[in-house]
Amino acid sequence: MPSRTSPATPWTPAFVADAVAATLKRAAEHDLHHAITEVARERGLSQATIEEWVARARAVPAAPVPPGLVTCHDCDHPMILVQLPKCPPVYLCMPACGRAPVPAQSLRDAVARAVLHRAPHLVPKDKIDAAAAYAPGGIHRVAVGASPKDLHFTWRSDPRQLVGPRMSPAQRLNYARARANHGDRARAIEVLHTGLLHTDPTDDSSALDVATANSAALLAELALADGDPNAALPWAGWAHRSLRRLRGATSPEATAALKVLAAAYRRTGNLPEAANCYRDLIRHHTSADGPRALPTLAAQATLALVLYQDGHCAQARQLLARAAAEHRAAHPGHRDGPRLRQELNRMRATCVDQRHGHPARIDDPPHDIAAALTKESSTP
Ligand SMILES: [Zn+2]
Ligand SMILES: [Zn+2]
Repeated sequence: MPSRTSPATPWTPAFVADAVAATLKRAAEHDLHHAITEVARERGLSQATIEEWVARARAVPAAPVPPGLVTCHDCDHPMILVQLPKCPPVYLCMPACGRAPVPAQSLRDAVARAVLHRAPHLVPKDKIDAAAAYAPGGIHRVAVGASPKDLHFTWRSDPRQLVGPRMSPAQRLNYARARANHGDRARAIEVLHTGLLHTDPTDDSSALDVATANSAALLAELALADGDPNAALPWAGWAHRSLRRLRGATSPEATAALKVLAAAYRRTGNLPEAANCYRDLIRHHTSADGPRALPTLAAQATLALVLYQDGHCAQARQLLARAAAEHRAAHPGHRDGPRLRQELNRMRATCVDQRHGHPARIDDPPHDIAAALTKESSTP
């Protein structure tokens, strides 16, 4: 059981809102765990206490009003859920501007009434009791004035049907993976979009938790599979940036996201960026799996295709010839071997067709590989 701080003087909602604001601000610069540790130390609180406050402010499943939806009409800051022992839950801006907290239940009821009145089709028939959870599908922002009755709604110009708005990020990711594995890509994309509704992947932000970052990577992967690389690209970039920060640049999760980003760059025709991503991938796989491992060789082969597509044909052919030779030596009989050699022959034929006039044998495998091949083939 983690120890929680007992308050010396009674905590106020404003004290909690300020501590959460300080933590999230710092989390945007480092990471959430680090931010919690620092703010706890500075304010003489236990980490468990700050963790609990931050979790409540960001939590989706039990929130009366979905996080990210309400702002303070006076100071324009986001409002978060604050609950202190023996007090009813309230919403307050973070950091607190001095206004009175707003009772959570009345705010929830007012938001639910508004969405049921104006956009009832966004709330499934059997979820009327949870109407507030579906509000972000129709409402972009709710600015809260002096009382829960004084609400200023900004409605979305593109209302969306939310899927499972009360799932936690981890539940959402698992559900989306399961749907995608069952071939229901459309549903998986919808459920991921619901979780990323308040995220703009083109700004400087990054995810505060790994499940959300992985959700964006999966969304990008599914958009690519759906033939929509332009939709995939920003999510792939955001996911990769987030996972690099949360898990480290060479972590398997960041590497997986980098692979999606590389493919998104390639499919949108950003070939130099794609090539840079594949070079990074080759480096990561070389140190994690070895220079002759299948993922390393696959990344080399794809880099060769990108280079060829971008007009660097000599470099591409040399790289692909080397990768194909390494592949043959290290993985004889593997099903990808013939494909690599076919690609190489296709490149050679195109160069000849287009009269590039390369010197003969520009893509002969280097001597040591050739020696390894000879040795291989002479072994019974
Ligand atoms: Zn305020
Ligand atoms: Zn050429």
